[in-house]
Amino acid sequence: MAPVPDKRKVGEADVQKLRQLLGGTQASVLTPSDDGYSASIERWSRAAEKPSGVSIRPTSAEEVAIAIKYACEQNLDVAVKGGGHSTAGASSTNGGLLIDLGRMREVTVDTDKQQLHAQGGCLWGDVDEAGWKHGFATVGGTVADTGVGGLTLGGGYGMLSGQRGLVIDNMVGATVVLANGEIKKASKEENSDLFWALLGAGQNFGVTTEFVLQAYPQKDVYMGTMVFMPTPENVTKLVKAVNDFYRVPEGGVSKSEGRGMGLLGLGKPPDAGGNTVILFIASHDGPEDEGKELFKPFSDIGPIVNTMATGPYPMVNNMVPSMIGMRSSMKGAAFVLPIREEFVHSMLGKYQEFNKQCDDAAASLVAWELYDPSKVVASDEGSFANRGYHLNSLIMPMWTKAENDQQCRQWAREMSLMFKDELEAHGQTTSDGIEGGASVRGHKGAVLLYGNYDVGNYLRNDVSGTRANKGQQYDEKSRDIFGTNHPRLQKLKAKYDSTNVFNKLFPITPETTNDGHL
Ligand SMILES: Cc1cc2nc3c(=O)[nH]c(=O)nc-3n(C[C@H](O)[C@H](O)[C@H](O)COP(=O)(O)OP(=O)(O)OC[C@H]3O[C@@H](n4cnc5c(N)ncnc54)[C@H](O)[C@@H]3O)c2cc1C
Repeated sequence: MAPVPDKRKVGEADVQKLRQLLGGTQASVLTPSDDGYSASIERWSRAAEKPSGVSIRPTSAEEVAIAIKYACEQNLDVAVKGGGHSTAGASSTNGGLLIDLGRMREVTVDTDKQQLHAQGGCLWGDVDEAGWKHGFATVGGTVADTGVGGLTLGGGYGMLSGQRGLVIDNMVGATVVLANGEIKKASKEENSDLFWALLGAGQNFGVTTEFVLQAYPQKDVYMGTMVFMPTPENVTKLVKAVNDFYRVPEGGVSKSEGRGMGLLGLGKPPDAGGNTVILFIASHDGPEDEGKELFKPFSDIGPIVNTMATGPYPMVNNMVPSMIGMRSSMKGAAFVLPIREEFVHSMLGKYQEFNKQCDDAAASLVAWELYDPSKVVASDEGSFANRGYHLNSLIMPMWTKAENDQQCRQWAREMSLMFKDELEAHGQTTSDGIEGGASVRGHKGAVLLYGNYDVGNYLRNDVSGTRANKGQQYDEKSRDIFGTNHPRLQKLKAKYDSTNVFNKLFPITPETTNDGHL
């Protein structure tokens, strides 16, 4: 086989050819002078936008297949946009061919099988609303306008994860357009190797045009936000309440029993009068009296705002404001319980210091995500390699001016490294899974980091320069994320995408033969 060729930008002749190939279909082929082009390259974070050479807005798997086959044959750089929330720029291309799935947002409900069929461009709000009409819900993202595509293909955590596991643990099938334009069904019964790859490393294997998700009967949820002033006394009490409620004792179950989700955050919401506050955004999948009793240790602390009340399930994924249109760079990290009070104080200090230095970044957030991971740990589905009793944390600088890009990104890196130091201070040991790795590793030799949280700089220092260096760096990062699953993914990459068309998020180099060829 031939070596992986360089990808190239789209030229005028490509645009003409694509217009010809897609003529007579419903797909739009857009260049910068066309209406709709600007919207196609918009991303949740303005800092993640790049100008595509051409944007294709398909309405079916067949239309996707025509465009992808052409791009593959012509070695065009390709990006795929689902909900557009990647802050790493993973759904954008500088001059290449963009598949914008924004016109494929239909959800159909199979009430007999209790399954939701979501097209590849759906947002979680689409899925929540469609399921709820029939009294169903599935595990999905906690912010309704996040894309089903990227979130699912990288694993997916949601409000129901404590009871039902990751999103991929509830994915029962998919339709995928491969690099050569073939349209394949994937499930445990059909193309099961492709299905395994999709469950965690899915962005690397094709354009998923349909997700089939298992749904469950769902009732109203007790949910809301409590806001606390960051006094030393409040920090002490909150940290204790969090540790008591979410910590999973060895061999036992947490007090949350998997039905309570939470997010402990540091923020400066607009209505807090310029003050830094501590937010506790929480939900309990159960009746109100039960929820009130369970969250009493929190409400007894004396929040200055408490909106906890019962409401329909879709509301639970609308509690965190989406803040579309700002510049943002997400950095994920990990932590284990118990949280140390001193650590929260040092994060508070750093957060306030940063806000003083950059008054453009008041909307920034630092969050500890809380749930009982027992169910996630119990499953071993797919190529996702980051399961464990650790939890995800998130540093999300949000700002408006491009001149602040560097400063805000640097702050996020520094904060994520503080989480890393704290994790190591908790005595987490590295596994011997993969040599020369960065940070703490879990039982599959992968770092304890969620790849969808843009963790690149937490893994290794960026080494730019030669293409070879870049390739090596990517491979190392991908090994960090996929751990002992990486070699199998490389084999499957050679089978399903040997020229690495899908290469934007933790790209996997197809397995090579001894002569360095694919
Ligand atoms: C505000 C916010 C809230 C979040 N909340 C959560 C949460 O609750 N739980 C959680 O697990 N994560 C969460 N995330 C992280 C989220 O999982 C990632 O940002 C993810 O990339 C979003 O997917 P997307 O489709 O919106 O992104 P995009 O930017 O469109 O895509 C991200 C990657 O997925 C690929 N992709 C997208 N759709 C497809 C498809 N159909 N077929 C093939 N490839 C595709 C893209 O090519 C790209 O590589 C959140 C992120 C943000 C910004």
